[in-house]
Amino acid sequence: MSEIAIVGGGPSGAMCGEQLARAGHKVRIFDEHLAWEKPCGGGLTHKAVECFPFLLENPHAKKLVSAIDLIGSDDQRVTLEMSHPIVIYSRTVLNGMLLDRAAEAGCKVHRSHVMGVNTASSKPRYCVEGEWREAAFLVLAAGARNHLLPETRPLKRDELEMTQGYFVPQTADAITVKFLPHFEGYLWSFPRSDHLSVGICGRMASHTSGELKAHLHSFVEKQKIPTEGAQFYSHVLPSPQEHTLSQRSVLGKNWALIGDAAAWVDPLTGEGLFYAMRSGELLGRALAEGCPEKYPARVKAAFTAELEFAARIVRRFYRGSFLGTAVTTRMVQLLRRSSVFRQLMGDLFSGTQDYTSLKRRLWGHLGFTVSEFISSVLNLDRPAAAAVSRGGSGD
Ligand SMILES: Cc1cc2nc3c(=O)[nH]c(=O)nc-3n(C[C@H](O)[C@H](O)[C@H](O)COP(=O)(O)OP(=O)(O)OC[C@H]3O[C@@H](n4cnc5c(N)ncnc54)[C@H](O)[C@@H]3O)c2cc1C
Repeated sequence: MSEIAIVGGGPSGAMCGEQLARAGHKVRIFDEHLAWEKPCGGGLTHKAVECFPFLLENPHAKKLVSAIDLIGSDDQRVTLEMSHPIVIYSRTVLNGMLLDRAAEAGCKVHRSHVMGVNTASSKPRYCVEGEWREAAFLVLAAGARNHLLPETRPLKRDELEMTQGYFVPQTADAITVKFLPHFEGYLWSFPRSDHLSVGICGRMASHTSGELKAHLHSFVEKQKIPTEGAQFYSHVLPSPQEHTLSQRSVLGKNWALIGDAAAWVDPLTGEGLFYAMRSGELLGRALAEGCPEKYPARVKAAFTAELEFAARIVRRFYRGSFLGTAVTTRMVQLLRRSSVFRQLMGDLFSGTQDYTSLKRRLWGHLGFTVSEFISSVLNLDRPAAAAVSRGGSGD
């Protein structure tokens, strides 16, 4: 295949470019910022590190965090210890490392804004610096705010989350996550090597930016995080529904979407870095084999079931109640009482436990109330023969 053009040099575009260049293709990556501090927590879970070990094995600044403080809407707290740390990068560092790898593999990397794309003729075209150029294939990796979407629809309000936050020049040893009553999203503080990324995400169709700002300010005040002189950010985050994942087109005859542009984000947690890198890798390999049509099936086999599962339960998780109390509040209460549940949730957060194999792990290992709680949130049917120990909500 002759030259492939990639619009967007974030984790998805850089990873796709690297795969293609390694396979001997001519690749140009265009990014208007190159390595920049894209609004993000920057947290990579164990599944990302397992799949891409170089994320851990490199000399770049990063923070390894093994504890998460969860705070319920009633301000009760619990600490989860994770068996595998979450690796947290500044996005300038992460994007820079991925773009360097792409360039070392042979990609030509340009700092340019792509103004338009046209995929109507057999060879797709893109417009850079006022000039229309031709490519053999167009990879669209321009993120969640991107409007370069040939032959597919943009994400709607109910498929997006708003985010706001601060980069604060302060450090910490644990991640903090706080839930709010009747709120579809959460607040967080992610410690990086030399600063914190503190923020809030909330479903765009349910919450206003004023609401987010008020919650964020009350959070930083209560957590005693100084925001004077801190850099404010806001961005959007895909929050796909089940039908988004199963029906929205991500591949045409001469173009494909990857990463946030394709809406490959966990709607429950907002994790997108792993899915961006993995989708970039999968598209790159399919294109290198000359079989782009294999990309959707490979993504489906790799992770779509997980994202669909999260999309099915997200509303119940943030809006539902269990025994008369909000699910998230009840979850923190139960975590305080059960070490087995704490271990399970630690594994879920760190990415060592996926949603789809959770059911197998559950039955018989957790106390009755915790098992009932999880089955209710996950909408699982309890198997008839399940040996769930009765008589207490503790271990
Ligand atoms: C506040 C926030 C916190 C998050 N925290 C986490 C987290 O802790 N862990 C996690 O896994 N995920 C997190 N995410 C999600 C994660 O940031 C994204 O899923 C990830 O960045 C997607 O990578 P991408 O390469 O698809 O897109 P992006 O990282 O958005 O990259 C797109 C690139 O395209 C470029 N671009 C856009 N338009 C053009 C154009 N017209 N011409 C040229 N270049 C263009 C941009 O400059 C950008 O570099 C968070 C998201 C937000 C908003």
